[in-house]
Amino acid sequence: MKNKNRIGPWRRLIQWATTLLLLLLPWFEVDGKSLLRIDIPGLNLYLFGQILRIQELFLVLLATLVFVLGFLLVTVVLGRIWCGWLCPQTTLSDVAEWAARRLDLTVKHNRLHGGLAGKILLQGVYLFLAFLVASNLLWYFIPPRLFYTRLVALDLHYATWITFVLTWLLVYLDLAVVRRLMCSDFCPYGRIQTSLVDRATLSLHLPDAEMERCIECGSCIRTCPMEIDIRQGYQVECTNCGRCLDACRGVMAKRNEPGLIRYTFGLHGEGAMGLLNPRVLLPAAALLALLVILGIGLLDRPVASLKVAVSHTAAARQFANGQIGTFFNAWVNNRSQEAEVYTLQARNKDSGTPLVLKGQIKAELAAGENRRLDFVLLTPGNEMTVEFVLTDGEGLELSVAEAYIGK
Ligand code: SF4
Ligand code: SF4
Repeated sequence: MKNKNRIGPWRRLIQWATTLLLLLLPWFEVDGKSLLRIDIPGLNLYLFGQILRIQELFLVLLATLVFVLGFLLVTVVLGRIWCGWLCPQTTLSDVAEWAARRLDLTVKHNRLHGGLAGKILLQGVYLFLAFLVASNLLWYFIPPRLFYTRLVALDLHYATWITFVLTWLLVYLDLAVVRRLMCSDFCPYGRIQTSLVDRATLSLHLPDAEMERCIECGSCIRTCPMEIDIRQGYQVECTNCGRCLDACRGVMAKRNEPGLIRYTFGLHGEGAMGLLNPRVLLPAAALLALLVILGIGLLDRPVASLKVAVSHTAAARQFANGQIGTFFNAWVNNRSQEAEVYTLQARNKDSGTPLVLKGQIKAELAAGENRRLDFVLLTPGNEMTVEFVLTDGEGLELSVAEAYIGK
């Protein structure tokens, strides 16, 4: 009887979808802006059409916190599902092992067995995969086309060269030497996962009641990439990939019997309801609260920002009419998706009296643009706190910044 209930094809589909997403994400753009990229020189984060500046780092930190907490919660509920079904390292190892099999090589106890020619060719595959991963990492900092143009012209920044070559070397060593030991021994996420397991976490196991049906064929062990025997009970090395489940189902299908190994919430039949405990519910509530705060923060972002500081390069001076001219620099950031004309105005904070500004006080900024404007504030010479107001083309106040003027 053919085993039609294999979960392997679903796992591969999800694995490849995740890997392709990570590979292709930096190639997509919205209105000429990367979908996801960190622009280090400009201190911007391009995030799905939004441009977050360094001043809005709290939103990035909040998003990171949401990501980490979400990741931990998924681990408590679904165990190492990330490792077996989503992690690019697993996909990379799978591709490397597939290539090894095509070259008549086998990997056993983390060692490569087979002919010398195949082993040499496999190093070429490792180098290619490592090159792809190192490039992919840098695409999140430099637009991919620009990266390759500069790579070919040997025109990358030295820090980029170091990052690129080091990543290439480390990924090559990972594929050639470390292999699946990364998942069992080195990956920090794999290590902390042990402390996250809940009594109802999803895991693969063979119930004691089913043990007598086991025919000791060893298929589940042979197919396991982590080389463990799931019949011995839960082991931290298990990545929840489900290959043993498919193997056992295949063997038992020939005997017209259901497979012995299964996914269950909890090793003692706790079921998914067992997850309704404070260890799961409290982080879930915290995650929900963070998501709401992040959502409000993103929706409530001002469409423009203004920062003002007294110029360090030009000293204040007194004019013939007795007025004091103080030189200022302003940094205006258009956070909207469209070009906008901005005007700077000033007023005495206490009295509300308008003050005179001369210089660059009107400018058109492209969507996402950040520009420095230099101008002079003219005051009668008394001390005051000045409010600088940024208005849009319709005179709407968008942002206010303050500065103190002394004698
Ligand atoms: S025991 Fe099964 S689920 Fe766990 S890693 Fe091995 S094959 Fe995958
Ligand atoms: S594949 Fe199934 S029947 Fe074969 S050894 Fe493993 S648990 Fe037993």
